[in-house]
Amino acid sequence: MTTLFAIPLAIPVAVPIAIIVSALAMSLIVGIRYLIVSGAFDVATRARHPGLYVGLTPQIRREIAWSLASALIYGIPAGVVAWGWQNRGWTMIYADSNTWPLWYAPVSVFLYLFAHDTWFYWTHRWMHTPRAFRIAHAVHHESRPPTAWAAMAFHPIEAVTGAVIIPLLVFGIPIHVAALGLVLTIMTVMGVTNHMGWEVFPAFMWKGRLGGWLITASHHQRHHELYRGNYGLYFRFWDRICGTDRGVGDFAKSHARAADAQAGAGKRPGRSGAAVAARSGGDG
Ligand SMILES: [Zn+2]
Ligand SMILES: [Zn+2]
Repeated sequence: MTTLFAIPLAIPVAVPIAIIVSALAMSLIVGIRYLIVSGAFDVATRARHPGLYVGLTPQIRREIAWSLASALIYGIPAGVVAWGWQNRGWTMIYADSNTWPLWYAPVSVFLYLFAHDTWFYWTHRWMHTPRAFRIAHAVHHESRPPTAWAAMAFHPIEAVTGAVIIPLLVFGIPIHVAALGLVLTIMTVMGVTNHMGWEVFPAFMWKGRLGGWLITASHHQRHHELYRGNYGLYFRFWDRICGTDRGVGDFAKSHARAADAQAGAGKRPGRSGAAVAARSGGDG
């Protein structure tokens, strides 16, 4: 009798523990990934535009706290689905590159980005209705101006909307595990660079024929400046066809302020004003 009951009981107890462990591991990965990528772009920002984050330390602390809470939330659906993929054959993620033709790999990356962008545009636009904004999205716009640390600075409700989309897409759109890795990398890098206060990408990516359809910092900066419009994530497609595209902004004003702040800091004892001025040269 004991063995008869022991076996069925062993499975239901082990499975939830394995799922919880998978979710926590994924939260840890998302959190560490955020700290590394935002940290790297924070260092790059301070080197390229010294003074840009002067006086923003309390805001950055808040951005990090909200972002780490978001990382915890992001890890839950990702961890559950990763467990199901590994143990139950869930999802359409494939690891054998012969499963689908090679040409499909870039197509799948585009499909994921476009689907994610569509989801983001419409949920983001909804979060700019007065009530939803107050409850779910004001946290993200508290960053004025946002920094490289604001990439995941979301209220938990907004974090849930962001966390569920990729774990849902893997059930509907086949993707090679490496292509999925690329999608997640693009997602992370764009989330950080769109908020860091300067343009890291070459001009063809944010103006001209191709840039007219892509979203980088110059486009998202304008969303944070105007609140209305420029709701997209990767592509300007929905903004353009729905008439919510407000064009690209520029960073001239904030960079001039940064240079002033830095020049002021340079005049304080122990700092070389000339060295600071030399480093501020060259705009991005
Ligand atoms: Zn917004
Ligand atoms: Zn933003």
